[in-house]
Amino acid sequence: MLNDDIQSLSGIGKRRAELFYKMDIRTVKDLLYFFPRAYEDRSVIKEIDECAAGETVCVKATVFSAVKEARIRKNFTISTMTVFDDSGDMKIKWYNNRYVKNAFRQGGTYIFYGKITYSGLKKEMENPLYELEGSGKYTGRIVPVYPLTGNLTQKMAQSAVKQALEFSQELCDYLPQAVRNKYKIAELGYALKNIHFPEDSESCDIARKRLIFEELFLFELALFMRKADNERADGTAFEDADCINEFEKFLPFAFTKAQKRVVEEIARDLSVSKTMNRLLQGDVGSGKTAVAAAAVYMTVKNGFQAAVMAPTEILARQHAESFTRLFEKTDFTAVTLTGGMKTAEKRQACDMIRSGEADIIIGTHAIFSDGVDYKKLGLVIVDEQHRFGVKQRNMLIEKGINPNVLVMSATPIPRTLALVIYGDLDISLIDEMPPGHKSIKTYAVQKNMRRRAYGFLEKNVRAGRQAYIVCPLVEETEALDLKNASELYEGLVKAYPDIKFGLLHGKMKAGEKDDVMQAFVRNEISVLVSTTVIEVGVNVPNSTLMLVENAERFGLNQLHQLRGRVGRGREQSFCVFIVGQMGGTVKKRMETLCSSNDGFYIAERDLELRGPGDFFGTRQHGLPMLKIANIFTDTQLLKEAQKAAQEICSADIVIDEEEKERLNEKVEQDFYSQSILN
Ligand code: ADP
Ligand code: MG
Repeated sequence: MLNDDIQSLSGIGKRRAELFYKMDIRTVKDLLYFFPRAYEDRSVIKEIDECAAGETVCVKATVFSAVKEARIRKNFTISTMTVFDDSGDMKIKWYNNRYVKNAFRQGGTYIFYGKITYSGLKKEMENPLYELEGSGKYTGRIVPVYPLTGNLTQKMAQSAVKQALEFSQELCDYLPQAVRNKYKIAELGYALKNIHFPEDSESCDIARKRLIFEELFLFELALFMRKADNERADGTAFEDADCINEFEKFLPFAFTKAQKRVVEEIARDLSVSKTMNRLLQGDVGSGKTAVAAAAVYMTVKNGFQAAVMAPTEILARQHAESFTRLFEKTDFTAVTLTGGMKTAEKRQACDMIRSGEADIIIGTHAIFSDGVDYKKLGLVIVDEQHRFGVKQRNMLIEKGINPNVLVMSATPIPRTLALVIYGDLDISLIDEMPPGHKSIKTYAVQKNMRRRAYGFLEKNVRAGRQAYIVCPLVEETEALDLKNASELYEGLVKAYPDIKFGLLHGKMKAGEKDDVMQAFVRNEISVLVSTTVIEVGVNVPNSTLMLVENAERFGLNQLHQLRGRVGRGREQSFCVFIVGQMGGTVKKRMETLCSSNDGFYIAERDLELRGPGDFFGTRQHGLPMLKIANIFTDTQLLKEAQKAAQEICSADIVIDEEEKERLNEKVEQDFYSQSILN
């Protein structure tokens, strides 16, 4: 029953089911794990006399008069009725509600839940929820509030979840008894019931604790299992043989100490038969590309192919260019493969990958799509955003390949946290900037300085420099986002007819984006107006100015990442944040950015200023998609969960076979097949 489609529940037909599907709720079981975002306490019933205006309350009252309907104008009716309890009476009003007319029995007692208003001297309640006294479905208790979309109402969701809960005993608790006992974790059935319909706030807390622990525990367990898997898998040991020194000669610079150390860590991994799984962390501009290239060099020298996966087409193109340039003096062959390429081009690339003619394969996730077969893949480099997940790895293993993996990230995660959320990876850190790296001069100005900021931009452009203008996501919707950037673009084109502007936004086709980006790289476009699509990795050394509109809408981290797009050449670079409202936290945030270029410091301040909940925007990279737990606020439970997972793996906590099987199955289901780790 739990795995049945939600249409098996009463009140859910095809159309309503579609609304649930949109939220990824398909089965009865999915409903159990559809957690409320908040609760309304409808457990206290007040007397009419005690209710104050503006309060949202439950009242138990008897119907005095039948519902009267008054048609005020076309399409607008008001239904009213008077009710009373021992303390007094009040009027109840509904607007445009056809159903209430026949919903009440005179003299019947009902519970009403709604907001108290006053009209003249009389108490009123508007558009309340109601139900017959004693039914206890929607009132007289703590009621969940679900994160709904579309036309689904809370009532529909509550009723569906309530039905689903009746099947919850079908679920075996996958948390072993011994773990539950040791960490004082409630049983699954109890937790599910009380996360949706808690008896009181304490049982709600107990339920939450259990579900958070469960999620983190399973996540940690998945990491441990993965790590064990990876360590078992054996690859080929590459030969080191002075490879790295050889490679360094191709670079137009010498490695920094930090780069050198990290390259050695990677070379050591590659030269043993255990496959590498390493996270390469380094602030924007710290020189991760050259380090990655060194690994590519070693791989290709050993007769293997190396694949580089970038999160966007633009970045893939850029990587392709920088790698081609770096390996100019070698006989390596590089191919690009992205989803946006023409079929014929794709086919040619695939042929070269299959035959082994291609040594370096650079592209988007397309490089791992079906039909792409590698002759001898030895290394995968994953840039930013994407986490090379179990899904991809398994796909490759199925194809008979078990490559070394290097994940590059510019997200400055404090080390202690990194150890927990990247428990399956070894970590390398580039903690030093290349010499001659000029820090970016950053200014935050208010809207009234906007003209001066654009004057500064004009001056820079006339001096032959290039610039970025970044517009934020105004709303969640991409349509608005797009409008914002393109309006600005059009305004600028009119205002400065002799300056070449370009526009880049997420709704453009890959090919179009590419054309614009290429034109910018070739300096045929002087100013690039864009939404945050440029956030990651692009490298245009001649662009020395970045202007960010409505900078207050971005997180500190994101602004720092954005800023990393300039300051890549020899000239002094500037970053100007235009801020709508320079109040309290915004001011502090801007001060942090203006005074520091250190991503780790900024990340820590961000954590302090915004609170952990918002620390990483929704688009942050590589972090697990958790439903109820928050790795930044639930740190205590995270530590306990990690400990428990470790104890299970090391058999310090002994569980029986059946429990083991259940646990394995659950981890597989939640964290492997759906590849939440990606
Ligand atoms: P990121 O870590 O953000 O990917 P990049 O690899 O793009 O940084 O490097 C940023 C810039 O620094 C590039 O222009 C690169 O050529 C340069 N660079 C990298 N390493 C060094 C170094 N050791 N000395 C001088 N310049 C370097
Ligand atoms: Mg980079």
